[in-house]
Amino acid sequence: MSDTPRKGTMLVISGPSGSGKTTICKRLLEDPRVRFSISATTRNPRAGEVDGRDYHFISRERFKELMAEGAFIEHADVYGNMYGTLRGPMQEAMARGEVYLLEIDVQGALQLKSLREPGIYVFIAPPDFTELRRRLTDRKTEAPDVLERRLRKAEDEWRERGRYDHVVVNDKLEDALAQIRKIAGLEHGIG
Ligand code: 5GP
Repeated sequence: MSDTPRKGTMLVISGPSGSGKTTICKRLLEDPRVRFSISATTRNPRAGEVDGRDYHFISRERFKELMAEGAFIEHADVYGNMYGTLRGPMQEAMARGEVYLLEIDVQGALQLKSLREPGIYVFIAPPDFTELRRRLTDRKTEAPDVLERRLRKAEDEWRERGRYDHVVVNDKLEDALAQIRKIAGLEHGIG
C-alpha cells in the first residue's frame, strides 16, 4: 500500500452501543504510547465535542472529495452520516511506532480486515446481550424508529464478533482493560 516503514500497531476497537467501548478507549488513551485516530464525519458535533479532537467535522461535499482522493482507508455510512478513517495520520503514527486506536463501527473494521490491513481487531461485547436489548428498550429515551435502528445495528454487530481477532467481554471494566492492554502489548508501563 505504501513504502512507509510500519513500526506501529493499528488497534481497531468496535462494539455495539452500550458495550462501554468509549470508556475503554478513553482509558487506553491515558497511555502516551496510544494515539486516537480522529475520524472525519458529516454528522453535527454534539455538545462538548471539539472539531479536530473528537472528529474532523466536515461537509458531505468535502467528504466526497476526500473519498475521491483516496484519503480514507475505510469509510461507512452510520445512521445516515458518513464516517471515515484518514490514511495520512495513520501512516504517520505507524512510522512513529505508536499504537493507533481506531474506534470504528463493524462495517469499517471488516473493510479493513478484508483489505488485510495489519492490525489487532478487538470486539467489545456487553456481558449479556439480552440484557443490553432490554436496557435500550426500557430506557424509552429514543423515538421508536431510532431505537429499533440501534437495536438492529447492535444485533448485526454482535453477529459479526467471530470475525475479530479478540472478543473482550466488558463485565468488569478493569479486567477488560487489562485484557486489551495485554493484547496490544501495553501491559508494562513505560519508564
Ligand atoms: P458517534 O456518531 O456516536 O460518534 O459514532 C457512531 C458510530 O460510528 C460508532 O459506532 C463509531 O465507532 C463509528 N465511527 C466513528 N468513526 C468512524 C470511522 O472513521 N469509520 C467507521 N467505519 N465508523 C466510525
